[in-house]
Amino acid sequence: MRQDMDSEILIAGSGPAGAALAMLLHRAGRRVTLVGRVRDYQAIEGIARRSLQALQSLGLHRAAACAVGPLPRRVIWGGKARAPNAEWLLPRPSFDAALLEDLHEAGIPMIKARITFLESQKSEVRLGLADGRILTAPWGVEARGRAAARRQFRDAAPWSTPAWILRGEAADSDPASAALSLPGGGWAWWSRLKGQQYLQLALPEATLRRARHDPNIWLAAQPDLAQLWGQAKICHHYQRPSLLGRTQVREGRLWRLGDAAMAIDPLSGQGIFNALSSAHGLAPVLNSLFEETSIAAPLERFHQRRQDAQYWRFARAGRDFYRQAAYQESIDADPAPYWTERCHWPDHQPLHLPEPWAQVRVRRGLAIIGNHLAERELVFTQDQPMGIQAVAGISLAPLVKAMQDGDHAAARALLAAAGPAAMAIIRWWADHPDWPALPEPHSLGGAPLSPIDSASQ
Ligand SMILES: Cc1cc2nc3c(=O)[nH]c(=O)nc-3n(C[C@H](O)[C@H](O)[C@H](O)COP(=O)(O)OP(=O)(O)OC[C@H]3O[C@@H](n4cnc5c(N)ncnc54)[C@H](O)[C@@H]3O)c2cc1C
Repeated sequence: MRQDMDSEILIAGSGPAGAALAMLLHRAGRRVTLVGRVRDYQAIEGIARRSLQALQSLGLHRAAACAVGPLPRRVIWGGKARAPNAEWLLPRPSFDAALLEDLHEAGIPMIKARITFLESQKSEVRLGLADGRILTAPWGVEARGRAAARRQFRDAAPWSTPAWILRGEAADSDPASAALSLPGGGWAWWSRLKGQQYLQLALPEATLRRARHDPNIWLAAQPDLAQLWGQAKICHHYQRPSLLGRTQVREGRLWRLGDAAMAIDPLSGQGIFNALSSAHGLAPVLNSLFEETSIAAPLERFHQRRQDAQYWRFARAGRDFYRQAAYQESIDADPAPYWTERCHWPDHQPLHLPEPWAQVRVRRGLAIIGNHLAERELVFTQDQPMGIQAVAGISLAPLVKAMQDGDHAAARALLAAAGPAAMAIIRWWADHPDWPALPEPHSLGGAPLSPIDSASQ
């Protein structure tokens, strides 16, 4: 039974990526229908402050309220203990159910059902439901998570082992979490929430096979993990796929989003942030597309480049963590193959490229402006090949041009006009040691600026 939806776009999948995109398009006045069902497996995931803030700013308040924290992020990596920042624990699927409640409250049309297929045809997208209905709309989004995209993945990491999860009750009810690298290769993320504990493990293949044979004996033999876990019984243990890869962001009338577009290493703990951020990237692309269908190809190129840049950045950040563990282990012995094989993917390029002033360029390019994409003057550096439009909400190109022209009076006037945002711009600029010093503004919002203020951050 075919049903034309009165929607410009069908979003398949109601996890953080699909929910965020539905909210952004709905707020921009678009007709959206979201189709999905709540994830059916229990997990605890950790998010950082910026993900929590992103949920709140999207109006996903019930979902944000599921987050428990802040908890100190405890990390023992390569034997070195650190407490780099804070994290919040998210119980899934309660978080996923709360996302749906938020969307319902916002008035977004939603169908809770199992999707059997999603395909792009010449002039429409067709989405099949388990009850036999077929929904159609001019455009569609695939946001059904990592599993939905695994056949399309390219540039996958050469070394993917599934995540192994142990779940049990916890005697202590205080929320807590810890991440640690394991001697001989592998890592673990442990968390405790509402009387339950959850241990996520990434292990060398042979260790995983042995450990699964008798999880209790294996866990008891890991001193740090056994101490975190305590005396509790392991109630469940199971594997989750954790394949990494990126896809082509568009196939005909279908766009891919979140894990279905690009799945990153769970080591990063940034999957939810990436899902929300990819929705923020796709929404303006779609808004521009709905207004001018003929520009689909340049919009796709923009979105693909943005996504790929993120993918390689996350991959290099993960590689650097594996390198740290390999380095620490190499002090006393040969580092485990688990670490060494992860030290070379995706490449040997540094996470951030140098940004010499002599190579900074100002030229026109596409940027996200509000709900749309628009051409603007952007600042291009080696590290930012997509161009920088604004810092702290203030357009950067005029300031860079003024400094390139040696026009300090103009630069000073621009900083004065930036008001309170000038401080953030000055701090950001000072992080580029090779760039010429900005002229000191006479005053910023009445408060004199000492050189230490601008150089110390
Ligand atoms: C082991 C593991 C641990 C992780 N830990 C963390 C962490 O600590 N922190 C973090 O930020 N990220 C973590 N991640 C990543 C995080 O889970 C994802 O990146 C994030 O959830 C992606 O959001 P999404 O909306 O793209 O996909 P998902 O959250 O997977 O949402 C997909 C949605 O589509 C629905 N769906 C799928 N198929 C169908 C169908 N046929 N019909 C209807 N609906 C369907 C699902 O039910 C779900 O609601 C982890 C990932 C793994 C594998």
